[in-house]
Amino acid sequence: MTFPPLRPELQGIEPYGAPQLDVPVQLNVNENPYGPSAACIADIAASVARAAATLNRYPDREFTELREALASYLNGDGGQRLVADQVWAANGSNEVMLQLLQAFGGPGRTAVSFAPTYSMYPEYARDTHTRWVTGRREDDFGIDPVAAKELIEEHNPHLILLPSPNNPTGTALPPGVVEMLCDAVGEGIVVVDEAYGEFRRSGTPSALEMLPRHRNLVVTRTMSKAFALAGGRLGYLAAAKEICDAIRVVRLPYHLSAVTQATALAALRHADELLAQVATLRAERDALVEWLRARGHRVADSDANFVLFGTFSDRDAVWQALLDRGVLIRATGPDGWLRVSVGTPAEMMAFKDALVDVTGGDVMEELA
Ligand SMILES: *Cc1c(COP(=O)(O)O)cnc(C)c1O
Repeated sequence: MTFPPLRPELQGIEPYGAPQLDVPVQLNVNENPYGPSAACIADIAASVARAAATLNRYPDREFTELREALASYLNGDGGQRLVADQVWAANGSNEVMLQLLQAFGGPGRTAVSFAPTYSMYPEYARDTHTRWVTGRREDDFGIDPVAAKELIEEHNPHLILLPSPNNPTGTALPPGVVEMLCDAVGEGIVVVDEAYGEFRRSGTPSALEMLPRHRNLVVTRTMSKAFALAGGRLGYLAAAKEICDAIRVVRLPYHLSAVTQATALAALRHADELLAQVATLRAERDALVEWLRARGHRVADSDANFVLFGTFSDRDAVWQALLDRGVLIRATGPDGWLRVSVGTPAEMMAFKDALVDVTGGDVMEELA
C-alpha cells in the first residue's frame, strides 16, 4: 500500500480549479464584476454580528427562514407558487449537485450529461461511484432530441444533468427538450443547472416554469454569479418536496452555518440592488458577441455572463499572450475555443485591446 492510501482511481489526479492569479483584469471564472453596495455590506455585517452572538449553538438545521426567502425570490423569476418545502440549499450549487448524486446516484447507477459541459459533473460521479455517460452536443452546442432520447433508452439513467445556460458554451436549452427528457427518463431525475439563469435573454423561459408539470425535475440556482455572492457560498434548488426530503438524508448535520444563513438572508433583502447590474451585463455580453463576430471569430450564442469564441490553432498561446497583457480568461471547452467572462466596460475595453494586439489587425489563426 502506498502512503497516503488514496483510492486508486484518485491517484495522480490534480485537484480541480481555474488558476487564481493576481492580474488586473480577471475574466476567467464568470464572477460578477460588481461588488455589493455599501448598504448591502452593512446589512450583511450587522446580520453576521447578530448570528455571532449565538454561535455557541448549532444553526437551524432546516434553515426555514432562508428557504422561505429563496422560494419568494424564485417566485419572482419563473417559480410557480413555490414554498419553503420545495427549496433546498447548501454551500454553493456544487454542494447541492454532490448531494443530488449522493442521494440519487451511487454504485450500479448512471448519470448522463451532454458534452461539452460543466467539468465538475464527472468528478461528483467519480466521488459517488456513479457511472458517468456523456452524449454529444451538436455543432451549435444544442442537444439533438432524437439522439438524446436514444441515449436515455440505452442507459436508463437515474440522473440527467443539464446546465442551461450551459457552461462553457452559454447555450440555453429549449423548454421542449427539457420536457421531453423529463418524460423519457421515467422515474429518473432531470437536473437543470441554472447557475446563469438570471442572465438568460428575454424570451428564454426558466425551467422553474415547468416544475408543476414534472415531479422529477430539479432546478438548481446559485448566488455566486448574478447575485455577486461567490464568496458567500450559497447554492440552492427548487423541486418536489419528496426530492428535498430525500436530500436531507445525505446532508451533513448542520451543513449550512449560521454565518452563511445570515449572509444569504441579508443579501436576499438587497436582491433588487444586487441584480440591478444583470441588465447591464447582459447588454455588455450582447455587444461583446457582436464585436467578436465582426472581427471574424466564431462565437457561440450566449444566454450567460460569458462568451465562448474561437477558433484558434493554438488557443493556449492566445490565452498566454492575453495573460502577458494582464487579461486572464479561460482555455476551456472544445479544442480551439476560449471563454471570456463579461466584466465592467473598462475590463471589456482592456480585453478587446489585448485581443486585437494578440491576433493582429485580422484574425490570423482562424481555422474555420
Ligand atoms: C459557476 C457554476 C455553478 C455555481 O457554483 P457554486 O458552487 O454555486 O459557486 C454551478 N454550475 C455551473 C455550470 C457553473 O458554471
